[in-house]
Amino acid sequence: MTCDFSLGHYRELLRAAKAGGYRLAGFDRPPERGVIILRHDVDLSLEGALAVAEAEAAEGAWSTWFLMTRSVFYNLASSDGERAIERLRALGHRVGHHAVWPHVDLDDRFDPVVAWHNPDPEYMQAPIPGAVNVMEAPFFDPEHYRSDSNQHWRHGCPHGELERGAFEWLQLLTHPEIWAFDGATMRESMESMLDADRAARLDHLRHDRIDLS
Ligand SMILES: [Zn+2]
Ligand SMILES: [Zn+2]
Repeated sequence: MTCDFSLGHYRELLRAAKAGGYRLAGFDRPPERGVIILRHDVDLSLEGALAVAEAEAAEGAWSTWFLMTRSVFYNLASSDGERAIERLRALGHRVGHHAVWPHVDLDDRFDPVVAWHNPDPEYMQAPIPGAVNVMEAPFFDPEHYRSDSNQHWRHGCPHGELERGAFEWLQLLTHPEIWAFDGATMRESMESMLDADRAARLDHLRHDRIDLS
């Protein structure tokens, strides 16, 4: 097994969690022994998110997707954005809000759960009225948390620990763009994403009746 950041290895991670006896859970109840909470912060690409969401569904898994209302990279209010939410829900996933401090734009598109984008320590774990903050207790503590930030696992790829049932429970944060777009480094994955984005934007131009002849 190669610990790359690919859809193939993401699926192996899911299988490792299953082999380790973990059950999937969300942010609607305190985590119990033996659960894994799959969390995805969607920072850059709805297309990347859907690719990972489809791969999860193919493994019989579901997760919680945190979508931005104030991203400079995608527009959740566009038809693509609406379709992305519909598809995530149709696949059995949950949808939370990936918020940009200090704006919480919770509405009926989202479950009442918030993950701050690039939070500062001052408010990272602060309670949010009317919503769960994914980084507050009991959903977060460092022993029960792993993240793939910038295509790097600080404590190594967790698939072996998952397979052995080494975590009492785990919140696993992954960023779908890293897994959906090919690249051995964050830079390379971002270049792949930008290449795909160019093709998608050309399509948008055609649909917008722009003459590309
Ligand atoms: Zn691995
Ligand atoms: Zn983010």
